Amino acid sequence: MPEHADVVVIGSGAGGGAVTWALAPTGKKILLLERGDRLPREVQNWDPQALWADKRYSNSGQWTDGADGRRFTPKQHYYVGGNTKFYGAILYRFRERDFGAVQHVDGVSPAWPISYADLAPYYDRAEQLYQVHGKRGEDPDDPPAAGPYPWPAISDEPRIAQLRADLIGAGLHPFSLPNGILLDEANPHLSACIRCATCDGYPCLVNAKADAQVMTVEPALRYPNVTLRTRARVVRLETDPSGRNVSRIVVDRDGDREEYTADVVVLAAGAINSAALLLASADDRHPAGLGNGSGHVGRHLMLHNNSGLVAFSKTPNPTRFQKTLGVNDFYWSDPFDPDWEYPVGSIQMNGKSEAVLIGFDVPDERDPAELARHSIDFWLTTEDLPLTENRVTVDRDGGIRLFYRRTNAAEVARLRMRLQGLLDSIRCEQDVYPNRQYAGGQLGIGGVAHQNGTIRFGPDPATAPLDLDCRLHEVDNLYVADSSFFVSSTAVNPTLTIIANAMRVADTIAGRFGLSAAGADPAVPAPRRAEPAPGTVASVSGRATG
Ligand SMILES: Cc1cc2nc3c(=O)[nH]c(=O)nc-3n(C[C@H](O)[C@H](O)[C@H](O)COP(=O)(O)OP(=O)(O)OC[C@H]3O[C@@H](n4cnc5c(N)ncnc54)[C@H](O)[C@@H]3O)c2cc1C
Ligand code: SF4
Repeated sequence: MPEHADVVVIGSGAGGGAVTWALAPTGKKILLLERGDRLPREVQNWDPQALWADKRYSNSGQWTDGADGRRFTPKQHYYVGGNTKFYGAILYRFRERDFGAVQHVDGVSPAWPISYADLAPYYDRAEQLYQVHGKRGEDPDDPPAAGPYPWPAISDEPRIAQLRADLIGAGLHPFSLPNGILLDEANPHLSACIRCATCDGYPCLVNAKADAQVMTVEPALRYPNVTLRTRARVVRLETDPSGRNVSRIVVDRDGDREEYTADVVVLAAGAINSAALLLASADDRHPAGLGNGSGHVGRHLMLHNNSGLVAFSKTPNPTRFQKTLGVNDFYWSDPFDPDWEYPVGSIQMNGKSEAVLIGFDVPDERDPAELARHSIDFWLTTEDLPLTENRVTVDRDGGIRLFYRRTNAAEVARLRMRLQGLLDSIRCEQDVYPNRQYAGGQLGIGGVAHQNGTIRFGPDPATAPLDLDCRLHEVDNLYVADSSFFVSSTAVNPTLTIIANAMRVADTIAGRFGLSAAGADPAVPAPRRAEPAPGTVASVSGRATG
């Protein structure tokens, strides 16, 4: 007999973790299936050589570029906590106007079927859950919120404070990034986070990053009704004879086949893997893939136009934790060109480069460590559009194939041009090193970190596989709770929206069981067994709920 749970959640990243956390207090039997393992805690977590050069934690295998058949390694991690184990923890709300239609250079970013106001209460809860730092009102485009950020803005180190002053002098409105690290600057002796230089792109050795494992999965596992099964890769979802319900969840666990059943199934494997799983689950009743009568599952893939820009400043930059400052003056327009009618994008600080990373960016540099001492590192994001032909497909052998054509290249170029122009005028002069003013560029197809849009939601089953509750129109007991549901990518980071929406989905599922307000009581029981870092997790959770 297959093992039965009230709710099976597939994937333990931002979305799956939040659903599990929110439903844990309901007492329903919840089984979390995760294809990866717990990431080992070891000194290499913070070793640039191990991360970037030796690729110690890379476990995504390879996918295929549909344009030319080339194989590539996607920026994708399979661990408990998903990609949040490595993320930069910048936790933005989408802007209010992002929920409406927006005209871009290459077309229209479509309107969402819900408004900012619908998601706002869940953003409030998501910021509390992930203990986000920030200062309301600094960002000129900050959407309304119920109250201040749970934690104060993280301070700039001196070189970034200087950069902030220079940008203000240039007429811009830099602001403190909304950041989910468990840093208590007022009480450093109690702070879980030690403000180190190896955060963005690295796992946190001391469990002080607000990632899905630390903030949702481990706390949820303290409830006796929640179980995590690792190395459990879901390979197929099968339906009952009506085709309206998932009746069997087929898992490959270390090469063995396992089967599960559930009243409700929540798919949160990441936008690309979730779409791939539905496509791979085609049967007689769903010949084009599960819930894919519309033909839209896997389509409208968006990745963001993401670029790194490394500026080499004459003034050395000894900053350790650099992700404290953002600039959204170019989000909707170009303040330096009133004739430009389109959005341009967002700018934020990136993790600080060190010798190994600079070695990739500037391979002919003889002394990458010295060059790194002068780097100031930025991350630029421009919205990409949900093209129907940008899509995920699954090969006969189960391999993932991506078809992806970039959009809004003129906006990407303009954002870079504007930032470089500003930096030219604020002491990133060319005379630092001959021919060494800027490095970095746009991410290729492997840059799938911000993937979204592959199973979008909407009221019309002919054009959107998910309904407004993120349940498949064609399958009554299957919900999706990762970034697949996005209708547009916007130009800010996706994860807070994934978490907020996952809590919304959890509320709907709790309602199905006749229960209300899932996750309303966030008090987490004491650990029921040894955990990786009981002291850290307990104190962090205590602070979150206090
Ligand atoms: C280096 C890096 C930096 C980033 N920085 C930021 C940032 O600063 N801010 C931000 O908002 N976002 C950031 N992101 C993106 C962020 O990590 C993702 O938006 C977020 O993790 C997506 O959540 P998810 O739940 O959709 O998917 P994931 O977090 O990817 O979780 C999906 C989970 O499903 C599991 N899974 C996949 N397939 C199966 C299967 N068949 N069966 C069982 N389990 C499966 C995976 O192993 C994984 O654990 C960053 C990402 C990276 C890689
Ligand atoms: S200690 Fe703080 S800065 Fe360092 S990785 Fe952890 S959360 Fe990031």
